[in-house]
Amino acid sequence: MRTYGGGVTTTAPISDAALLREHGLRVTAGRLAVLSALGRSPHVDAETIRQRLGHAAPSLQAVHNILADLTEAGLVRRFEPARSPARYERRVGDNHHHAVCRRCGEVFDVECVVGEAPCMSGPTPSGFAVETAELIFWGVCAACAAQG
Ligand SMILES: [Zn+2]
Ligand SMILES: [Zn+2]
Repeated sequence: MRTYGGGVTTTAPISDAALLREHGLRVTAGRLAVLSALGRSPHVDAETIRQRLGHAAPSLQAVHNILADLTEAGLVRRFEPARSPARYERRVGDNHHHAVCRRCGEVFDVECVVGEAPCMSGPTPSGFAVETAELIFWGVCAACAAQG
């Protein structure tokens, strides 16, 4: 179990290469680079990741392919705010939510209210088993609000 944000970590950090192998993915330079870029800056889209990787970056299509593989393997979480390209992050498996600033587009993590998925109960179709709930809060971030 890996924890985030000041939690107690009971196991040694796993290297990204080991993580890829653990999830049945071949270790490639492209996958390692994308994982590392996402570790430094979460909630970014494919184009931003490619820019962060500099001139050594794979093509945008390659970055999309890598992100699709990582998402399918459960190493990366994908979410799609309205009117925005899909964003990616490495914080997976905790069903946290997001707050998006309408002005600058910055994305903030919002902790799960209950602490475990699906963390929201609502009217669901009869017999429907809810596994996760995705919630996006829209508003204005503190920095933008300070600018008036
Ligand atoms: Zn803002
Ligand atoms: Zn997040």
